[in-house]
Amino acid sequence: MPRPRDACSARPGKKSRGRKPSPRADYPPFIVLSSPIPHNKGSVRILLVEDESRVAGFIAKGLREQAYAVDVASDGEQAVYLGSVNEYDLVILDVMLPMKDGHAVCRELRGAGFRSPILMLTARDAVDDRVAGLDSGADDYLTKPFDFKELLARLRALLRRPREVRAASIRVDDLTLDTASHAVARGGKPVSLTAKEYALLEFLVLNQGRVVGRERIAEHVWDESFDAFSNVIDVYVKRLRAKLDAGAGRRLIHTRRGEGYILSAAPEPGDD
Ligand code: CA
Repeated sequence: MPRPRDACSARPGKKSRGRKPSPRADYPPFIVLSSPIPHNKGSVRILLVEDESRVAGFIAKGLREQAYAVDVASDGEQAVYLGSVNEYDLVILDVMLPMKDGHAVCRELRGAGFRSPILMLTARDAVDDRVAGLDSGADDYLTKPFDFKELLARLRALLRRPREVRAASIRVDDLTLDTASHAVARGGKPVSLTAKEYALLEFLVLNQGRVVGRERIAEHVWDESFDAFSNVIDVYVKRLRAKLDAGAGRRLIHTRRGEGYILSAAPEPGDD
């Protein structure tokens, strides 16, 4: 029996209408949809594995609008590679993929110690397919085509599940963060932040009292497109400080020279 195509597939059968023949005509090229300028929000980084560029683009765009940082892999081998070199908080994994299918990717990632939740996208509503997905190490599955709202709900549920439960409201000294609405206040006064500034602040707050290096910040707040040689993190920290510490008695974000940043209500000797 021939394997059915993805329900979301936009490919017109086997014909390659006007497309140049190439050995990989069926496989769109590797696409990382991140723009060169980091613009993603949220301190949750997602790996999206989907070979249909149209579907991948649609999902990635929707996720970014929801404050997630997103990297995209368009085949199974890239997925395994990205999953092994980056720290992802969650993987959305299509089952039918070129090079290596979703089940194989899932097994390899799990075999390599990958612990974050994996949500499988399956084109078929067949029980066997779902069972195979869960057996290969996936945490949940969604059948294509799906409603984007349902995808978001599944992601939230999966992200709630692991290790640390995210509190609805976090307080450090006189700073408060509402993790659902992203509202921030200092000393009771609202502080207006961009989505990226919020994501950075939330990451520092979740790690309060601990020094976090630029590398870790980049891994959790930015995505694949992050340029390690840029000073973008320092620029964002400076902006955050200007907004948070303006008019406040104490500085909350401190610099540890050569190490990174630490968010703490206690004064630091290195404060300038
Ligand atoms: Ca596919």
